[in-house]
Amino acid sequence: MTLRDRALGALSGLALGDALGMPTQSMSRAAIASRYGRVDTLLPGAEDQPIAPNLPAGTVTDDTEQALMLAELLIAGDGIVDPLEFASALASWEKEMIRRGSLDLLGPSTRRALSRLYDGESPDRTGRDGATNGAAMRIAPVGVAVPTEDLDILVDAVVDASRVTHNTGIGIAGASAVAAAVSACLDGASLDAALDHAEHAAAIGGSRGHWTAGGDIAARIRWARGWVREMTTAQLVDAVSEVIGTSVAAQESVVAAFALAERFGDDPRTALTVAASVGGDTDTIAAMCGAVLGAYHGAGALPADLVATVRRVNALDLGPTVDGLLALRSRRTPSGHH
Ligand SMILES: [Mg+2]
Repeated sequence: MTLRDRALGALSGLALGDALGMPTQSMSRAAIASRYGRVDTLLPGAEDQPIAPNLPAGTVTDDTEQALMLAELLIAGDGIVDPLEFASALASWEKEMIRRGSLDLLGPSTRRALSRLYDGESPDRTGRDGATNGAAMRIAPVGVAVPTEDLDILVDAVVDASRVTHNTGIGIAGASAVAAAVSACLDGASLDAALDHAEHAAAIGGSRGHWTAGGDIAARIRWARGWVREMTTAQLVDAVSEVIGTSVAAQESVVAAFALAERFGDDPRTALTVAASVGGDTDTIAAMCGAVLGAYHGAGALPADLVATVRRVNALDLGPTVDGLLALRSRRTPSGHH
């Protein structure tokens, strides 16, 4: 499998997970079960879907849109994301969503950070309490653009792309975990080794940014991986929805994504459809899990019919984005590799 297959897999897996979770996001596990049974394919947003009413099956949400926005800024900035430019792109994105009549608007940390920025606060302070999963949901392009040779450098790149909105140990740790897992898969790591890299990067990221109270992401990923490894699907769904947690808090949803990657690493379709059924922030959990498993298996190993639908419904052309990110990656990779 080529590096490009894996990179395309990361972004395709992100979009596929996001679209699978779109119709169930913000619903309880019980409400999902009573309406859909177990989600096993792309479904439209129902009329009463709180965030995605009446959207066609396969439609992606903020996770994919903001990840692609970050990718474009990374490519245009030669690997550097200017925090003010990123903030302004996020604000424009939300304006466009409102114009389209969408209810999928900025998350709590990003919204608070942008309003502080307008009030004149420094971009180093605006994300001081951003501990939700917004940085992690959109970080996959950084994992494609930056190799894992030196995890401190990778975490630096995560911080640069996240600090304006999620400048906390928890927010950065969650994003570092996703970026490192994606990047390690692109480097050809086994899935087990890639998830180990995620833990290490989360430990490094957890000491960056402003301190905020909450469970330690690295420790929680390590614990969750060991705990869920032998579980049946039913036990895993209980574990994720009742104990690990599915809220927008990074120490819940990011850990949930890694628990699913650990247990269903061989089978991306099962991992992502179970993610779409667990309740809470299903689209983001599935998007993060999809980025990691897509990077590991490559685009060709994702369910082709579903990926084709997601590409068509959203008019996604991921090739140029992937090529731009890989050009950044090759410049950061010491000669002699690849
Ligand atoms: Mg979303």
